[in-house]
Amino acid sequence: MKKQYINGRWCDALGGGLWHVQNPATEEWFADVPFGDERDSLEAIAAAESAFASWKKLSGWERGAFLRRCADLIRSHAERFAPETTMEAGKPLKEALGEWMVAADLFEWYGEEAKRAYGRVIPSKRAEKRMQVVWEPMGVVGIITAWNFPAYNLARACAAALAAGCTVVCKGSEYTPLSSMNLFQALHETGLPAGVANLVNGDAARIGESFLNHPAVRKISFTGSTRVGKLLMDGASRTVKRLALELGGNAPVLIFEDVPLEQIARTAVTGRFRNAGQVCNVPQRFYVAQRIYDDFLHLSSEHARQLRVGYGLEEGVAMGPLINKRQQEHVLTLLEHSKQQGATVLTGGQTLDKGFFVTPAVVADRQAAPVFRQQEIFGPVLPVTPFSDLEEVLQQANDTPYGLAAYVWTNNLKMAYAAAEGLQFGMIGINDWAPHGTEAPFGGWKQSGLGHESGSEGMLEYMEKKLITINLST
Ligand code: NAD
Repeated sequence: MKKQYINGRWCDALGGGLWHVQNPATEEWFADVPFGDERDSLEAIAAAESAFASWKKLSGWERGAFLRRCADLIRSHAERFAPETTMEAGKPLKEALGEWMVAADLFEWYGEEAKRAYGRVIPSKRAEKRMQVVWEPMGVVGIITAWNFPAYNLARACAAALAAGCTVVCKGSEYTPLSSMNLFQALHETGLPAGVANLVNGDAARIGESFLNHPAVRKISFTGSTRVGKLLMDGASRTVKRLALELGGNAPVLIFEDVPLEQIARTAVTGRFRNAGQVCNVPQRFYVAQRIYDDFLHLSSEHARQLRVGYGLEEGVAMGPLINKRQQEHVLTLLEHSKQQGATVLTGGQTLDKGFFVTPAVVADRQAAPVFRQQEIFGPVLPVTPFSDLEEVLQQANDTPYGLAAYVWTNNLKMAYAAAEGLQFGMIGINDWAPHGTEAPFGGWKQSGLGHESGSEGMLEYMEKKLITINLST
């Protein structure tokens, strides 16, 4: 049985609790894992607190060596880890394997970046004075992550915090505990000192409260819904806890009439239905120039119908189920609401006999149903709205509480820049379905979050600036 990892040891929940893991494609309960609460997280925080002083003292080169070893171990175990990710998260095996490879990249990259926490020397106004700014690790970081990328989300925060010199207590999603535990298997095999990285699984609200209340936890890194992000923000005021919030998204896509339509429709379908649409920065709402609107609808519907939906361990499956019944119901309700607001479902939107599936839906959304703008879709639905000019489409694209990612497809350079500059989002892909990378900052505007993960910004998120001055005249 897979377990929690506290102070260098695999352990059960202190209260003896168990969590049954369900396969969302077959609805079978196929594994049991410990399910703890604040008792487990307090033990983990204590371990992380006592490990901090010596972990912080290691040089970036020394810390980085553990992280790079972790990257190698993930790569060598990926064929074993990926099927378990598919079984608990539902994504096709190829996607699960790809996710583990990116998790490895994150550890490799931060293994290098650990060497580069450069400070700054400031020329002082006074001749006898010297000033420098140095970066120091914050301390213990509590990391809470979502199920949609159970390996990547945890790796992204964990690798950056460890590189910075922080120690961590991680809580992955209860829906995907096996992936978190596999990631910790790799970390354990690096020979990491006890207490530096800890993993708990259990009651989210109670563990979250223990992070918020404990003075040794200097920062909470949260990847998940805007709803829970706001709860954490409220609670953080009690101890002025630092927060990194990677929250929901609702990315618009602007497709202008000069693009190669067949290619864009095909790749739009691949991008939109990745992980059954359960991706925070995935293209969600499609705005297509009036002149090519009907053709785009026709082509994207054709491609969506060809996607093979099923259990991700079966050969050739391109899209799996949603994570659970609640998520399935959310998507079906959203489709119903969109119909009431004037949209027409051209294909998909069906459930299957077993599993939490919704088949890939393409929706003609001529009147721009508010439900698609105001809520995160987080499911396999591709709504398409026509537009006639840039000003109109920017107004619709920006009319959302979210601000994570946006996409622009055109070969007109001036239009591409005008659109990119007018969009109120943290990441813009121009002719690119993947405007992110291990080496680049990832973060949202508005209610999509606070701060950045990945890239050099991601490591500095876990460090505090310190100004040191010296007066040489005394
Ligand atoms: P969620 O907010 O329900 O859960 C996320 C994590 O928070 C889980 O580990 C959960 O156990 C925990 N949690 C739940 N209630 C809590 C509480 N009261 N206190 C502390 N922790 C609590 O989100 P989800 O359904 O797991 O994930 C989907 C959401 O995550 C989507 O909104 C998606 O956009 C977002 N997401 C964002 C990014 C990003 O980088 N911006 C990446 C992945 C997912």
